Amino acid sequence: MRQTAGGYRAPSRVLVIGSGLVGMSCAWSLQEHGVEVCVVDRGRPGAGASWQNAGLVSPAMSVPLPEPGILRYGVRAALSPRSPVAFVRSADPRLVRFMAAMVRSCTTRAWRRGMDAYRVLNEMAVESYEHQRAGGVEVELTRGDVVACFEHPAETGAFLHEIEAVVAAGQATEVALLTAAETLAAEPHLSGKVAIGVAVRGQQYLTPQQYVPALAKSVRDRGGKIVEDTVVTKVERRRDVLVATGPQGELEADAVVVAAGAWAGGLLAGHGVRVPVYGGRGYSFTVATPEPFREPVYFPVARVAVTPQGDRARFAGIMEFGSPDAPPQRARFHHMVRAVRHLLVDLDWSTMADQWMGARPVAADGVPLVGATATPGLYVAGGHGMWGVTLGPLTGSLLAVQIATGATPAPLAPLDPLR
Ligand SMILES: Cc1cc2nc3c(=O)[nH]c(=O)nc-3n(C[C@H](O)[C@H](O)[C@H](O)COP(=O)(O)OP(=O)(O)OC[C@H]3O[C@@H](n4cnc5c(N)ncnc54)[C@H](O)[C@@H]3O)c2cc1C
Repeated sequence: MRQTAGGYRAPSRVLVIGSGLVGMSCAWSLQEHGVEVCVVDRGRPGAGASWQNAGLVSPAMSVPLPEPGILRYGVRAALSPRSPVAFVRSADPRLVRFMAAMVRSCTTRAWRRGMDAYRVLNEMAVESYEHQRAGGVEVELTRGDVVACFEHPAETGAFLHEIEAVVAAGQATEVALLTAAETLAAEPHLSGKVAIGVAVRGQQYLTPQQYVPALAKSVRDRGGKIVEDTVVTKVERRRDVLVATGPQGELEADAVVVAAGAWAGGLLAGHGVRVPVYGGRGYSFTVATPEPFREPVYFPVARVAVTPQGDRARFAGIMEFGSPDAPPQRARFHHMVRAVRHLLVDLDWSTMADQWMGARPVAADGVPLVGATATPGLYVAGGHGMWGVTLGPLTGSLLAVQIATGATPAPLAPLDPLR
């Protein structure tokens, strides 16, 4: 511990549980403050949702998930196994608790409150990537318009309504309505079935399988330790130290950050965090493309995003609430293909590979949980749901300030894990 000028006892050694992009960003930013870090993971860096997601760094689309429209999806999900929003059939009481809390947050008022928090974060999101790059993280962001595509003009309503709400919340967002011809010109892989497009200007994307290892390398190069294949089952305070316990033994530190993604709930029990976090399982795969996609494409009705990845395109989608440890439902990959195949051309679907399932850490009220818990020295960074790639580096830098100085940066106030 180090005493700061204001009398705050700043931790010298911090243990981060979880080496996804949120945990690694926390570790990296703590190093900026001269803190010694150890990151522990039950697998390897990027073993969770951070691995093969869509990779969009898209502040314009980064919004709280619970909103009144989600309830309509819920009814559809109960009726159709092909719905892009679904539930794994389960008797897990945590899922029931999570869903009840999420339904309570599906109000316009709660969404607006959440959006006020997102707006402030979204404005700083890209800058924090630039900061990491300047500090030696080899992360490559590509700028592009996200082209949202619709088969029928009437389908644009919900998407445009969301963009309008983002703008009404005060977030500068530039969109353009595209005719069918303009949409196909923007992205030649689209088929003539696309009737209308909405270009969300000036977003960014990255390849997540490159980003997480690049972060890990930088953390190690700066003297940080990353311990793989080590599970933590409990964190407790014993006098002046925090102790993380698991089958492999005990690890001690001055402070601990729980960045365990969709698994965080178990570690946070008993530490005053009431907002449930649960797995929002998503699926992705890649397909070879003779010509690279020019822009990221999003099909809002199917809820499938397509991101360029060199000579392949990465398809990502589905929001299936369920345990992160339950096996993937293979049929989901076919549902995704069936939902978008007719809207695309020049893809050799027989080259489909890299099938992957990852569980987004979804906070029931749609707002990330970042800050101190009720146990002194124990912090949480997570619950970013669909937008962890966009907000991960910023989360790390804001939380590191709080841990290193004892002062809570203003953008973190609405993310208070004890709310
Ligand atoms: C299909 C899909 C597409 C997505 N697309 C986008 C996108 O385009 N843009 C965007 O911004 N976001 C996107 N996301 C969301 C984003 O991927 C997540 O929000 C983000 O990766 C969460 O990062 P994390 O570090 O909190 O969690 P994770 O990456 O899941 O990391 C948690 C880590 O903790 C470890 N762990 C868990 N429990 C323990 C334990 N008890 N002991 C030790 N280690 C433990 C796990 O092994 C894991 O490595 C997408 C997600 C999915 C699934």
